Amino acid sequence: MQFIDLAAQQQRIRTKIEANIKAVLDHGQYVMGPEIKELEDRLSAYTGVKHAIACSSGTDALLMALMAYDVGPGDAVFTTPFTFIATAEVISLLGATPVFWDIDPKTFNLETGNWKLETGNAELTPKGIIGVDLFGLPADYNSINTIAQKHGLFVIEDAAQSFGAEYHGRKACSLADVACTSFFPAKPLGCYGDGGAVFTDNDELAEKMISIRIHGQSSHKYDNARIGINGRIDAIQAAILLAKLDIFPEETELRQQVAQRYTDGIRSYFPADDQGQALLIPPSLPDGMKSVWAQYSILAQDEQHRAAIQAKLGAAEIPTAIYYPRPLHLQPAFEYLGYKQGDFPISEDFSRRIFSLPMHPYLTREEQERIVEILAAGVKEPNYREIG
Ligand SMILES: *Cc1c(COP(=O)(O)O)cnc(C)c1O
Repeated sequence: MQFIDLAAQQQRIRTKIEANIKAVLDHGQYVMGPEIKELEDRLSAYTGVKHAIACSSGTDALLMALMAYDVGPGDAVFTTPFTFIATAEVISLLGATPVFWDIDPKTFNLETGNWKLETGNAELTPKGIIGVDLFGLPADYNSINTIAQKHGLFVIEDAAQSFGAEYHGRKACSLADVACTSFFPAKPLGCYGDGGAVFTDNDELAEKMISIRIHGQSSHKYDNARIGINGRIDAIQAAILLAKLDIFPEETELRQQVAQRYTDGIRSYFPADDQGQALLIPPSLPDGMKSVWAQYSILAQDEQHRAAIQAKLGAAEIPTAIYYPRPLHLQPAFEYLGYKQGDFPISEDFSRRIFSLPMHPYLTREEQERIVEILAAGVKEPNYREIG
């Protein structure tokens, strides 16, 4: 069994992918060919955002967004420690300082109810917030945008995992001043290499990011208005994404069914008590939200419990993964920020308990039943701690 079955998807659209790649080989515009504009128009139409700018990766998308806001030394950017390294890495790369805040235990996204936007350092100027739509579920942007407005901060949506998701009727990538997504192969919409995009309704920011994407160029190719990067996406990758976009809405619906079957199955074996506690906790979906289920992640009781379940599934050749085994504030790369164990207890606790099941649009009911039955048998064995 595959954790993410890209081959099943390819089989459906292989002819179209080959035709699109052949078109690139025939016209020979490998860099900034006509597929880029076509992709951008379709991304813009899909998300309802005025400007979609395709680029080299999700990481570069975040970098371009921060550069457009002139983020640099002395600036603080708030974000979650429970995310992929790229979210905070780009802040540090520009010489600015990531400032973390813990997550909401229900959504795994930034907790906004008690948020104190303090940097703990008088030398730092708060500049912005990066919300992360972890596992495909949008963060709470109504709250994040309100907090940001109150403090005069920009908001970037790290939608690397959430392209295709919805928040109160609005599409992911349209929920903040700027949004950044990734087309890494394993993401909900993936190419066959690296790719990404930035989204904004703001004309001035769009112009800046278009310039930053190609070495800060201005109207003339060899006039450079600012420092930029080589942030282009390849025409071949855009061509592949165009073929995948044809079936993407359908795949998004299939993902809903797959996730629902997991949740129903897990709930039937592990019903929640009055406090909402269960031996295994499936992901929750707040009202008004549609996740694109980049990952289906569940919580075990503790680290040992998780290891035992993973071993059991592994023995049946069912792959699992842990996102993320170490929150960013405890990564050696961020040691210089001075955080310590205990600073973000929910992120730390979840990094020991969370694991993800195989998740893609082509998982069959039978495969899922087998997975859930192994989960059920696993946690009932005598050497597993029972709660209550
Ligand atoms: C994948 C990912 C990124 C980076 O995207 P790449 O295309 O791999 O550079 C950034 N943030 C999050 C949350 C991600 O999952």
